[in-house]
Amino acid sequence: MANLGHVYLIGAGPGDPGLLTIRGKEILEKADVVVYDRLVSPAILGMCNAKAKMVDVGKMPTHHKVKQSEINKLLVQFAREYPQGIIARLKGGDPFVFGRGGEEALELVDAGVEFDVIPGITSAISVPAYAGIPVSHRGIATSFHVITGHEKAESNGELSLDFETLAKCSGTLIFLMGIANMDFIAKRLMECGKDPKTPLAFIEKGTTPYQRTVMATLETAGETIVREKVTAPAITIMGGVVELGQTLAWKKNLPLSGKRLVVTRAAKQASGISARLTALGAEVIETPMIETRTLDIPDVYEVTSLRGSERPKQSIHADFEDLKNIDVLAFTSTNGVESFFKQLLASGHDIRELAGKKIASVGKITEKKLLEYGIHCDYVPEDHTGEGLGKLLAALIPQSTEGATSYPIPRILLLQGNLADETLLNLLPKATRWVVYETLPVTELPEWKREAVEKADAVVFASTSAVENFVKLMSQGTAGVPPYLKATNGSAPIPQTSFCIGRMTESAAQKHGFETVISDETTMDSLVKKIVEYYSAGERA
Ligand code: SAH
Repeated sequence: MANLGHVYLIGAGPGDPGLLTIRGKEILEKADVVVYDRLVSPAILGMCNAKAKMVDVGKMPTHHKVKQSEINKLLVQFAREYPQGIIARLKGGDPFVFGRGGEEALELVDAGVEFDVIPGITSAISVPAYAGIPVSHRGIATSFHVITGHEKAESNGELSLDFETLAKCSGTLIFLMGIANMDFIAKRLMECGKDPKTPLAFIEKGTTPYQRTVMATLETAGETIVREKVTAPAITIMGGVVELGQTLAWKKNLPLSGKRLVVTRAAKQASGISARLTALGAEVIETPMIETRTLDIPDVYEVTSLRGSERPKQSIHADFEDLKNIDVLAFTSTNGVESFFKQLLASGHDIRELAGKKIASVGKITEKKLLEYGIHCDYVPEDHTGEGLGKLLAALIPQSTEGATSYPIPRILLLQGNLADETLLNLLPKATRWVVYETLPVTELPEWKREAVEKADAVVFASTSAVENFVKLMSQGTAGVPPYLKATNGSAPIPQTSFCIGRMTESAAQKHGFETVISDETTMDSLVKKIVEYYSAGERA
């Protein structure tokens, strides 16, 4: 129906974001509304259209957040509110495996709402696979049975399972939602004749960085859950195949397994470090604090001439013809590099304009970015700071000609963002600065992201502005008194540890009450190394 939205029942897979289907991702990227469950990972929520309305209907095992009947109605309501819109109903695992997807679909049919089902990888099979347990195996199990351990009979409130039949199955038994009732389930199966020595495994938070496998037998199931504090979400798998897990457990315990880290870099820059931390086993929550936007044409921020400095009253556009009068181009960020070259080309010029000029960079990352444009840097300060760069460039200005009216005083052009501090400019009495990109602080955190951040182990900061904005965002809705850790009355489990690049960043973080760990060098490599060192040393692990 043309005046209704289209609903997609999408399986998000068991947890590892890489296990979402390509089709599922395609729909999430263009969804207008995303209605999601508790078990969906933040990384998958992060893939959703940034403009989508995000609706959390997650259920906690103890208190139902939104009733199933309300969810059903909600989907119909969104289909009406968003004519021709895309409504993604995102569910853990597969939507039709104990996901109540069928009930939602029936309601949609009733209301005349069109829908697609995008299957997901069910936890029933994939979670054992991540623990090295094949659900079927030649000579051991010729069938597998997926059972809910939760479904109560309406008449007497007891588990409505046919234990007689289940106990006779020689195949693998896989229980979902069964932890709370497992003691009872195991006893009933034994009463009905299942071998008490049947090997069994509980796999908790499978496919996520927190995955844990606990082995038991049918007769020790109940006590093992208590002793090992097995908690949901977990799967119970029973049968001979479980023993293969001893040999086939392939998932390595990585240096950052079980750590949740918040990366506060701008989206464009975050992916490099996020990928590396993820590969080391961490769960990464990308939470950019700033968004950058390349200006169409650079703004001239300040022109200092030999006659003294002039700062334009209003922003004036830069003229690329002026490059002819420049001897040194200085870059202080990869954004600056990218923006400048974009603008250079857009203005009808190209890199031939830079022939014969000297190029300076604040540090290694910017230097590497310039290399991508085919440019070696002439000047990089050893300490990789704006101050270091300022001193290095200032030293190029010959003392004897200071104040003279004719060159060889090198004419320096700084290519920076609108929020660049004045350190560099102040150290260079004879420089021009073009603002090539704008940095806009992110002013709002979606609820799902705030929740994910609150549960993180640590935050990664690469700039003072990231620290300041993070604190501001996280203080919203709380008492809001910095230091923000105190503002939460010590109750909210907000991360206390921060990994910082640069001394300024570190002191900003300390000011707000973070414990800080600073990288040896101002590079991401160095920071990643430091994070691994920190956790392998067992501190607060
Ligand atoms: N539709 C889902 C199942 C929903 S029922 C699917 O196809 O996977 C929820 C149950 O699934 C949980 O109680 C737990 O038994 C299981 N489960 C889901 N994700 C899991 C995970 N990552 N690790 C272990 N069990 C999981």
